[in-house]
Amino acid sequence: MSAIATPRSPESADPPVPSPLRWVRRFRDGTADQRFLLGGKGANLAEMTRMGLPVPTGFTITTDACRAYLASGGLPEGLIDELRVVVAEMEQTTGLRFGDPDIPLLVSVRSGAAFSMPGMMDTVLNLGLTNTSRIGLAARTGDPWFAADAYRRLLELYASVVLEVDAQTLHRATGRVLTMHGVKDASGLDLIGLEDLIGVLEVTIADQCDRPFPDDPWQQLEEAVAAVFRSWNGRRARDYRRVEGIADDLGTAVNVQLMVFGNAGTDSGTGVAFTRDPATGRRRPVGDFLLNAQGEDVVAGVRNILPLDQLAVHFPDCAVELDRVMHALEVRYRDMCDVEFTVEHGVLYMLQTRVGKRTAMASLRMAVEMAEEGLITREEAMRRFRTDELERLLHPRFDRQASYEVLTRGLAASPGAACGRAVFDADEAQALAESGEQVLLVRTNTSPADFHGMVAAQGVLTSRGGLVSHAAVVARGLGKPAVCGAEELVVDRSGTFASVGSVRIRAGDLLSIDGTTGDVVLGEVPVLPPDMPPELERLLAWADATRRLAVIANADTATDAVTARDAGATGIGLCRTEHQFLGDRLPLVQAVILAETDQERLAALGALEQVQQADFEALLRVMDGLAVTVRLLDPPLHEFLPELDGLLVADARGELSPKDAKLLEAAFAWREVDPMLGIRGVRLGLLLPGVYEAQVRALLRAAAARQRAGGDPRVRIMIPLVIDANELSAALALVRRAAGDVEAELGEVVPFQVGAMVETPRAAFLAGQLAPLVDFLSFGTNDLTQMTFGFSRDDVEARLMPHYLEHGLLPADPFATLDEAGVGELVRLATAAAKEARPVIEVSVCGEHGGDPASIQLFERYGLDDVSCSPSRVLVARLAAAQAALGERDTDRDR
Ligand code: PEP
Ligand code: MG
Repeated sequence: MSAIATPRSPESADPPVPSPLRWVRRFRDGTADQRFLLGGKGANLAEMTRMGLPVPTGFTITTDACRAYLASGGLPEGLIDELRVVVAEMEQTTGLRFGDPDIPLLVSVRSGAAFSMPGMMDTVLNLGLTNTSRIGLAARTGDPWFAADAYRRLLELYASVVLEVDAQTLHRATGRVLTMHGVKDASGLDLIGLEDLIGVLEVTIADQCDRPFPDDPWQQLEEAVAAVFRSWNGRRARDYRRVEGIADDLGTAVNVQLMVFGNAGTDSGTGVAFTRDPATGRRRPVGDFLLNAQGEDVVAGVRNILPLDQLAVHFPDCAVELDRVMHALEVRYRDMCDVEFTVEHGVLYMLQTRVGKRTAMASLRMAVEMAEEGLITREEAMRRFRTDELERLLHPRFDRQASYEVLTRGLAASPGAACGRAVFDADEAQALAESGEQVLLVRTNTSPADFHGMVAAQGVLTSRGGLVSHAAVVARGLGKPAVCGAEELVVDRSGTFASVGSVRIRAGDLLSIDGTTGDVVLGEVPVLPPDMPPELERLLAWADATRRLAVIANADTATDAVTARDAGATGIGLCRTEHQFLGDRLPLVQAVILAETDQERLAALGALEQVQQADFEALLRVMDGLAVTVRLLDPPLHEFLPELDGLLVADARGELSPKDAKLLEAAFAWREVDPMLGIRGVRLGLLLPGVYEAQVRALLRAAAARQRAGGDPRVRIMIPLVIDANELSAALALVRRAAGDVEAELGEVVPFQVGAMVETPRAAFLAGQLAPLVDFLSFGTNDLTQMTFGFSRDDVEARLMPHYLEHGLLPADPFATLDEAGVGELVRLATAAAKEARPVIEVSVCGEHGGDPASIQLFERYGLDDVSCSPSRVLVARLAAAQAALGERDTDRDR
């Protein structure tokens, strides 16, 4: 077969000329930083062209054109004329003619938005070929099979991606011909077989679309461009944008590029490569290539794929050149890049590059090693390794060494891996979980009625719904793995089985899901605990030296405190003491509540004090030398009493013991209409004499014991839910009186600091008045969010939030990410007022937002001093705090 003679980037020799075109940019006219105008792919093709790399000629239709199309519903005026100009230029460069029967110019058409996203239109290859010009192509190449195959590929791709002919219909039509000719894929067909397939595809298209495949290349081009633009508003693309926070009005670009043929013979091939290993991060190019094949064959995995190092065996010159190109790209992009390349008759062409996707592990290693190599700065390394990647490293995952077969794949909706028995009903999930089974809840989709089943399950699998479906949102909120929208999965209405193709999943079968990758496996897959690669320590050391915010932890027990300290927390920002009152301590608390005389109450409190003292001593020992913030009792009292309903039933049956009768009385006495807004926090401390004092005594006696043992206890006492300076003063008076008692009793001074939680809007507004009374303030943003929104979290998160997020009524769950406009504004104002009133005051946050990277950005801006989060989020918070201190984050979300 004769050479097709594709020109390699001929424009790169010319200096860039100012473009008079409005909707279209030639590759030679653009640069890498124009991704919002040219899309990522277009901007990178432009950059490679500027770098003088071997890129087939072409142009990009800009995102401006897409926006104009989406606004008007038609291709913008003037676009066709511009296309005629740039296509004519391509004709001139190549000596080929668009639509010419003898020397047809063929192009590929690819979508390319600023950020790549699932659901955008796939590539159309060989566009421009027609039933007539394929004869010309056959004559020119001397290879009728090649020309027929090129036309077959165009028909298939055009039908599925431009004309949106149903995939099953196409598959069935193609399958019939392949079976008839006894081959597995089209590459096995002879010329007669190919002609049969072409005939069947043409008939199928005509049948499905009520019109024939367009024989006019200009019509093909116009339709393909419009299809790319339309795909911007496809369901999957929209869902993805919502979850990733990508603006809906960016639009996509379209890249039109001269075809090069990796399937032009045994001296041709095609492949993909990464400048470093995207799985491990190792500094070594890796990739695959296929001999005599086109790009889609690599992706489809239908042929024998060779590892990249074999390229040197088949095409030594190309291998050397590719190495040079990859090195140049790493230096230019200062990052790992992936490339698509084609070898046509022994000549290398670059079809695409971009900063490459990578696993979380690889991202970490590359960032740290590139900083150590001097390719990027340490600051860039810290920005580049994203907190969501770190979180992924911290989740359990499938053991990739284990052998297992992926049954199907869905959307990676909530990270982590889980294994359990398949259950198709929420009640059943709950019942089985209660009996000690690990279960996975499998549903077509979930609704608030399934919430209890999701809580009970190890993970959730749905066949429908996207990344903002109820299942996805709730699973992420619960921190459970979820795979959603696994479209091949069909959950039977009977609720007894599901199937994927011919494979049945019966209730009770073991099933595994990996919510980080979307993999679903029938059977048990070993799940590995999170990895802690050595590079993480190096990166976090840089982060610690960079951040301004201190990272402390919420820990109630010595065990939690060990985890927090090991993760690098430099203090405890919240010890919730109610945990010290539950379990076997409950009778003691109830005795305090039921006491009829002061004497009885004091005796019960004395017993409680003793056990609490031991708890505090253990905590102070673990955190020796670091501040430990102990919050005095916070929840409403009814949480320590039996359920009223149960007592009433027992009473009705005449089965109430004398003690239960007293508990019933107390339950009545403490019954509240809305306990979250009732007698809790400091209000309870003031109303129920002795409780706060007992807690303070226990804590300070523990601290004194630690001092005597040579320790360095740093005690901070925190008053919850305050609303007013008078109220806070009264509570602090209780604290100081109890402290005085301990000092008198022990004959020694036990230093401590006092603080208040800002959890109500009123406290936030009055922060300037509270600040002079205390050493520190800590925002309880969980309650502050509830009270600012008027949301009861437990009710709203399961029921309302998925609906609000799905319909765009709220940008994010405000319990996960601080609501900047409302709650954030309170935090900002209160911090400023507190610091103005008392410049040395320490201001913290100890709501769950303290561990959320997006919220940490805000806390940095508001000038807080520290963030306190759950021990499991300390590592993430350390990195996030450094990123916040560095300002602007790495925005390359395509990785
Ligand atoms: C808060 O309200 O943010 C807080 C830390 O307290 P809790 O979550 O215990 O109510
Ligand atoms: Mg609270």
